[in-house]
Amino acid sequence: MNDFTTRAVHGAGLVPGESSVPLRPPVYETVAFAFDSAQSIADAFAGRRPQHSYSRISNPTVAELERRVQELSGGLGVLALSSGMAAISTLILTLAESGANLVASRFLFGNTVSLFTRTLAPWGLETRLVDMTRPEQVAAAIDGNTRAVFLESISNPQLEVADLAAIAAVSRAARVPLILDNTAPTFYLCPARNFGVDIELLSSTKYLSGGGTSVGGLIIDHGLFDWATSPRLAKGAAAYGPFALLATLRREVNRNLGACLAPQAAAAQILGLETLALRIERSSATALALAEFLQAQPQVQATGYPGLSEHPGHALADKQFGGRYGGILTFDLESQAACFACIDRLRLIKRATNINDNKSLAIHPASTIFGEFSPEEQAVMEIRPGTIRISVGLEAPEDLMADLKQALVNP
Ligand SMILES: *Cc1c(COP(=O)(O)O)cnc(C)c1O
Repeated sequence: MNDFTTRAVHGAGLVPGESSVPLRPPVYETVAFAFDSAQSIADAFAGRRPQHSYSRISNPTVAELERRVQELSGGLGVLALSSGMAAISTLILTLAESGANLVASRFLFGNTVSLFTRTLAPWGLETRLVDMTRPEQVAAAIDGNTRAVFLESISNPQLEVADLAAIAAVSRAARVPLILDNTAPTFYLCPARNFGVDIELLSSTKYLSGGGTSVGGLIIDHGLFDWATSPRLAKGAAAYGPFALLATLRREVNRNLGACLAPQAAAAQILGLETLALRIERSSATALALAEFLQAQPQVQATGYPGLSEHPGHALADKQFGGRYGGILTFDLESQAACFACIDRLRLIKRATNINDNKSLAIHPASTIFGEFSPEEQAVMEIRPGTIRISVGLEAPEDLMADLKQALVNP
C-alpha cells in the first residue's frame, strides 16, 4: 500500500470501539457501509440482519434522530425524510392507489393542498375536503375506497383546532388510518397517540430543527392501526406484522422514491430536539402576550390565536396541548395594502416564510403560500387578503411589541 492515492483513500482505517466517547452523535457522512463477508451483505439486503448498507435507506446519524423521536413521541417507529412534504407525499403514495380517496381537512398547509389536488389528482387519487370540526362530515365522506383521514393539529393560518379523539373514533369505526400533521405543536405539546392518531407527521424543518437550520420530515407510526386491513399493506402485514407500514416505507417506497434525510441535517435536528421544550415554552408564552397586545391595537380588526379565550378552538387546545398554544398567531388589518405597509415597516421581525425559527417572522399568506390559488379557492380555505401571520421566536416580548407598535402606527 505505497501508492499515494491508495493511501489517501483508505487511510489507516477507522478503529471501531475507541475508548473516547463523543457527547455529540458523530455525523456519519458516508454513502455506504463495509461488510465483513459476502454473506453478511446478502443478509443485510434480505433484511435478515438490521445493518446499515446505503444511506438512502438508513444511516446511523439519521437512525439516532429516529430513535430519539420514537422515545419522545411514544411511537412504534419513525422514518426521517428529506422534508415535511416528502413525509406527506411518501406516506400517501404508500397507503393509497389510483381510484382511492383521502378525506382531508379543508384547512391544510398550502403545499399539502397543492400536492393532493394538483400533483396527485392526475394519478387517480381523489381528495374530499371536509370541515374537521364536524366529525359527522368526516364520517359521511368516508367510503370503501378511503385510504386515510388527514388533518393538522393547528391549521395554518386559520388556526383551527379539531377534536382529535372524536375524529379518531370516526376513522377507527371505518377502519381507515388517521394521519395527523403535528408540525405546529409537535409531540412535545400534543401527544397524538393519546388521542388515537394512527400516524403522526411532522415537518422537522420547523420547531425541531432548532432555529431554521435544516429541512426535514418525520413519519411516526403509533402502532394503533391493524395494517392487515389496509389494501396496500396487507402483504406487508403478513411479513412484518405491526411494522408493515414502517418496513414498506423503508424497504420499498422511500427506498424507491429516495427522499432520504442527509446525516448533517439529522445531526442539526438532534441538537434542535434537545432544546425543543425550552423553545416551545418560550415562544408560546410570548405568542400569547403578543396576541393580547395585538387585540388592544385600534388598527387590528381581528386576532387569531388558540390561546385567546374567545378562540373557537380554545377549550380543545387546552385539552390537547396542555395550556400552551404554539408560536403562530395571525392578525387582520383592513386590506392587503395595509398588511404590506405594516410588513414593510417591521425592523426586528423578519419578512420570511417558515415558522418556528428562533427569530420572529412575518408573512402575508394570501400573496405567498396560498398565492397559487384563485380568490375563490382562497375564500373556501378562509385565506383573507387582510391577514398577516407572525411566527413568534425567542426574542423578548417587549422588543416584539415595540416593533409591531411602530409598524402599525401610520395607516
Ligand atoms: C412547513 C409545513 C409542511 C411542509 O414541510 P417542509 O419541511 O417545508 O417540506 C407541512 N405541513 C405543515 C403544517 C407545515 O407547516
